[in-house]
Amino acid sequence: MPSARQGEAARPPEPILHVDLDAFYANVEVQKDPSLAGKPVIVGGTGNRGVVASASYEARALGVTSAMPAVRARRLAPQAVFLPSDFEAYRAYSTRFREILLSYTPLVEPLALDEAFLDVGGATRLFGRPRRVAERIRADVLAELGFSCSVGVAPNKFLAKLASARAKPDGLIVVPSTDVRGFLDPLPVGALWGAGEKTVEILHRLGIRTVAELSAVPASVLARVLGEAQSQHLSALSRGEDHRDVVSYEAPKSISHEETFDRDLDDDGEILREILDLSRRVGARLREDGYEARTVVLKVRLANFTTLTRSRTLPSPTDLGSDLYHVASELYRALPGARRRIRLLGVQAAGLQGSGSHQMALLASGKWGDVERAMDRAERRFGRGAALPATLLGTGGRHGPGPARGNTSRDDMQDRDRGTRRTSSEGPSKTTPADPAPNARKALKSQGQDPS
Ligand SMILES: [Mg+2]
Repeated sequence: MPSARQGEAARPPEPILHVDLDAFYANVEVQKDPSLAGKPVIVGGTGNRGVVASASYEARALGVTSAMPAVRARRLAPQAVFLPSDFEAYRAYSTRFREILLSYTPLVEPLALDEAFLDVGGATRLFGRPRRVAERIRADVLAELGFSCSVGVAPNKFLAKLASARAKPDGLIVVPSTDVRGFLDPLPVGALWGAGEKTVEILHRLGIRTVAELSAVPASVLARVLGEAQSQHLSALSRGEDHRDVVSYEAPKSISHEETFDRDLDDDGEILREILDLSRRVGARLREDGYEARTVVLKVRLANFTTLTRSRTLPSPTDLGSDLYHVASELYRALPGARRRIRLLGVQAAGLQGSGSHQMALLASGKWGDVERAMDRAERRFGRGAALPATLLGTGGRHGPGPARGNTSRDDMQDRDRGTRRTSSEGPSKTTPADPAPNARKALKSQGQDPS
C-alpha cells in the first residue's frame, strides 16, 4: 500500500557536498575595503612572530601560504597588505554563509567558519541534482558574500572534501560514484585524510606514492608498518570508503504557527478553517526549511485561559499542510465538551527530520504535494494568501487574494473585513506542551527554529 511519493526522486548516488569559501579571511577584508581588490592581501602575521592566517590568491601567486611564518611571507611579498584578523567580521560572513547552506538542506555540518558538509540527498525534489545544488550555492555565495567558493560533490564526506580541495579556487568537481577510482588513483597518498607527514614518509620508503599504489597493498602488509588501526583506516580511504553521516548541529525541535484571536471563536467551521490555515503555513515552513514532521500537536486555548494540547504521531513523516490538517482536525474533533469558546489556536509539527527519500506521504497525496508546492511558489512571488484552497476562501472572504492582503510579512495581520485583530505567532514552540506564553515572532528564518 505505501508507495513512494509521486515525483520524489531516489536518493542520488553523490549526495554529499563539501563547500569551502576561497581565501576566506582575505576575501572578507577585500569586501570591507574594496580598494584591496586585486592586491596581495595577507591576514595575520602583522607582528614578526606571527603566522599567515589567510592569503589572497594574489599573495599565493607570490608563494605565500597559510601557516607560513610572517617573516617569510614578508620576504616573499614585501608589497603585500598585511592585516590583523577581524573575527567579528568573519563570524558575520560565516553566519550568512551558513544561512545560504541551510536554505538548501537542514543537514549542514559546519567544519569551520568557512566550510561545511551538506547532505542534499533529500533536497533534489526542490532544487535538483546535487551538481545543480552546488552550482546554485556557488552563485548564491558569490551574489551574497561577494566572493567565490569551491565545492566538491561526491558519494561521501571524505571524497567531497578531497574534491573541493582539488576544485580550488572558484571551482566545482563532481566525483561520480561510478568512477571513484578514476578520481582517487592518481592522487598522492598525502591527500588521504589522516596521512600525516610521518605516514607519508613511511609509505614513500615502501615505494607507495599514489592512492592507486596504496590500494594495491594488502592490508596485512600495511598493518606491519603502520599498525592495525591506521592501515585499516587508510585502506578504506584508498578504496574511497567513508561511512560517516553528515551531522547537523542546529536542527530545530519543532515548527509551529499560532493565532490569538481577540474575538473568541465558537463556530466549528470557522475553527477548522483556522486550523487548516495554520496547518498550511506550518507545511510551507517545513518544505521551505527542508523538514518532515513525525508528530502533529494541536494547541487550543479556551476563553477561560485553559490550554489544551493534543498530539499524535504519524505513521510516516510529512511536510504537507493537508496531512497536518487531517490529523489536527481529528485532534480537535476529539476534544471533550461542545460549544467551546477559543481564544488561541496553534498547530505544531514536531519530531522533525530532514526531508529524505524514504518517507511516504500520510495520505499518499502526491497530488496535494504538487498543489502545495505550487502555492509556495505563488506565495513567494505574490505574497501570503495569493493562492488558497477553496475551503479557506470560505464566507466573508477574509483571506481574499490580492494586494490588499499585503505581503509575506509575518507581522500581525489586520483583518480588514471584520476588524478583528489577530496576533500571529510562529516558530519555535518549545516542545513543552503547556507553554502559556505565545511565542515571540521571529523575523528571521534562522531564528524561527528551536536550536537543540
Ligand atoms: Mg576556505
